[in-house]
Amino acid sequence: MSKPIVAIVGRPNVGKSMLFNKLIGQRLSIVEDTPGVTRDRIYGECEWCGRKFTLVDTGGIEPRTDSQILTFMREQAQIAIENATVIIFLTDIKTGLTASDQEVANMLLRSRKPIVLAVNKMDSVGAPNPDYYEFYNLGLGDPVAVSAVHGHGTGDLLDACVAYFPDEEEAEEESDVLKVAIIGKPNVGKSSLTNRILGQERVIVSNVAGTTRDAIDSYFENETGKYVFIDTAGMRKKSRIEESIEKYSVLRATMAIDRADVCLIMIDATEGVTDTKVAGLAHEAGKACIIVVNKWDLVEKDGKTMDKMREDIRRDLSYMTYAPILFISAATGQRVPRLFELINYVHSQACTRITTGMLNNVLEDAQTRVQPPTDKGKRLKIYYMTQVGVCPPHFVIFCNDRQLFHFSYQRYIENCIRNVFGLEGTPIILSIRQKGDKEE
Ligand code: GDP
Ligand code: GDP
Repeated sequence: MSKPIVAIVGRPNVGKSMLFNKLIGQRLSIVEDTPGVTRDRIYGECEWCGRKFTLVDTGGIEPRTDSQILTFMREQAQIAIENATVIIFLTDIKTGLTASDQEVANMLLRSRKPIVLAVNKMDSVGAPNPDYYEFYNLGLGDPVAVSAVHGHGTGDLLDACVAYFPDEEEAEEESDVLKVAIIGKPNVGKSSLTNRILGQERVIVSNVAGTTRDAIDSYFENETGKYVFIDTAGMRKKSRIEESIEKYSVLRATMAIDRADVCLIMIDATEGVTDTKVAGLAHEAGKACIIVVNKWDLVEKDGKTMDKMREDIRRDLSYMTYAPILFISAATGQRVPRLFELINYVHSQACTRITTGMLNNVLEDAQTRVQPPTDKGKRLKIYYMTQVGVCPPHFVIFCNDRQLFHFSYQRYIENCIRNVFGLEGTPIILSIRQKGDKEE
């Protein structure tokens, strides 16, 4: 099930990043360091009143400009708007209501998404600045007064957003349809694969009308199952665009990954791995993955070509050794049918539930074969392991001292789990708890 998305939109300098950081607060999870993944976040997980959602910061819309950067930013904001469940339209009491605000409002209204209007920089409590009332002229209802710096009003703001979220049961409905994101650099063959699939399978609906959010999704079904392919063709090359806006260029990929059950990480066989960023994003997001090597028809092969390429990929994407590799040709259709079986397979692996009894047998066995590490005479003691979640499988391990549970031993335990249960194609999460930790 995909989480609701809340996008913060507004002119530059109204305080969007500051609000984003305030709302994300301490909740921004610290994840394993993956090479090539941008740390400069514009995308984060939030929770309010028990509802989890994704918060997106957009670069800022300046309607009256044709500067290259601002035009680019506007395009990125448009992507966020298309994908959003609710839009926070942020304005600024210091500048008051401007003509540009009115234009941004018109653009937002065209999206037909629910809009929550907020006026930022209302730092002092007490009677509001009279300029506040001007914002009623936008015709978007009561403006929520906030101060991103102090955090005033953010509770009201989130209440207003959550009120627009679909019921959780409603959101659950589409669950027998697998969402598949095809991600990778431009020109690796993402659209060719989509076209190949849509061309040969029984297409039920393409470009579902009426649901703007899914306007770029292609739905179809065949004898293996029901699928939605999420288009990421809009991903940009890291070209001449300035560094400062580089972070916005991965927005569409991130959004596609977030909504997907399975990610196809596509590589051009004639080039090999030239970019580890998008694969890293999928890994970090905990998604089931398949590495798809496309344009296999163009490669001159001898008996060792496939093994050699497999080795190279394992080296370059070393944090993803769990992902199966499939060599295809979108042009000729070679092994494309096999892709569906693999998609179903890795998804079922990601949904695996393992009983506590079985897990603890593995744990015991693992410790007999390789003793847990010691430090200054103190030995790591592992008491117990249990699974707390799926997609990806999430395990909690209880021990005497977290510091002793070195990364290499975690890796070892992970490998022992994988040796027994497979879990092919899916990352897994190990959370280490020690005595005295609070129960969540
Ligand atoms: P963005 O371009 O919309 O992301 O805006 P920023 O978050 O970068 O903020 C622009 C400027 O407004 C910065 O100088 C912030 O310090 C300031 N600012 C943001 N929020 C507030 C606020 O709640 N009160 C005040 N007084 N200043 C703020
Ligand atoms: P995208 O930017 O990732 O969506 O890539 P496209 O689907 O537009 O493909 C880029 C180019 O590669 C096009 O000229 C395609 O015809 C070509 N292409 C894609 N897949 C294959 C393939 O399997 N074999 C060959 N020979 N060419 C391919």
